[in-house]
Amino acid sequence: MTAKLIDGNAIARKVREEIRVRVEVLKQKHGVAPGLAVILIGEDPASKVYVRNKIRACAEVGIESQVVRFPTTVSEQEVLDCIERLNKDAAINGILVQLPIPPTISIRAVLETISVDKDVDGFHLYNVGGLIAGDSVFPPCTPYGVQKILEYEGIPLEGRNVTVVGASNIVGKPMALMLMQSEATVAICHAKTRDLAQYTILADILVVAAGKPNLILPQMVRTGAVVIDVGINRLPDGRLVGDVDFEGVRQKASHITPVPGGVGPMTVTMLLYNTVASAEREANHAAAGQIAR
Ligand code: NAD
Repeated sequence: MTAKLIDGNAIARKVREEIRVRVEVLKQKHGVAPGLAVILIGEDPASKVYVRNKIRACAEVGIESQVVRFPTTVSEQEVLDCIERLNKDAAINGILVQLPIPPTISIRAVLETISVDKDVDGFHLYNVGGLIAGDSVFPPCTPYGVQKILEYEGIPLEGRNVTVVGASNIVGKPMALMLMQSEATVAICHAKTRDLAQYTILADILVVAAGKPNLILPQMVRTGAVVIDVGINRLPDGRLVGDVDFEGVRQKASHITPVPGGVGPMTVTMLLYNTVASAEREANHAAAGQIAR
């Protein structure tokens, strides 16, 4: 068996087209354009690239965006004051703080200050808790992107065995909760898991987000499994690879995401998706308020 290659770029293009249409409807019907504010602290080159990509993606679908830049010497209070100002700004529907931030600033304080209604990264505790109850306002973008990929590929989840390798707060844990919500049977593995293969081999759907090249070898994968590789690793020779032995595993899986070009393009796409959803919520609230008056 050779796996079907899941084209994350193609799915991202389709979702972005849907977003572009929704932005247009918002402009026509409500006279508003969705707005995203990105807070960037310091000069980390990778963070600058991520922010630039997000801003460019916003422009492509008609979302207005702004970057608020701070030096690494900024105080926590200045950042919190900025977030409070953006919370009150009617033109802003989404606020995100590009991570990592300097250790002098509490991540928890920053994330909890962002209004739940504008938390388009989905990192506020309310949104995290909502994943347990199945009613998160904004699911976090990377696992949300994986969910969209599975949806677009028509891969059913109910009653299937899913193994998630990686248990971080931003990818593995929310991913597992979202898949449980779809009534899959979910195993979560992490660096302390003994005999990883005994879990991966059971998986009808294997989602890997560990940040370890070649962690998943063909003998660890069930024939016909769907393999979603979230990992992004830069090898010493400069190549970008995931966590899965792509060439080996593609001979065994039914579907597989490549790296690059798999999950990656979906993460920014779901940020746009959450931002337009936030603007729609706001516009609908405003319209309902007008009718009530
Ligand atoms: P993280 O370092 O915060 O967490 C890694 C997780 O993997 C931890 O739970 C750890 O216990 C587990 N792990 C590490 N080694 C393991 C092993 N040998 N066996 C089993 N589990 C192991 O990383 P993260 O932020 O969750 O990111 C994971 C990977 O996904 C990274 O490669 C990152 O670059 C990538 N990523 C990609 C996107 C995207 O848009 N495609 C977005 C976020 C993260």
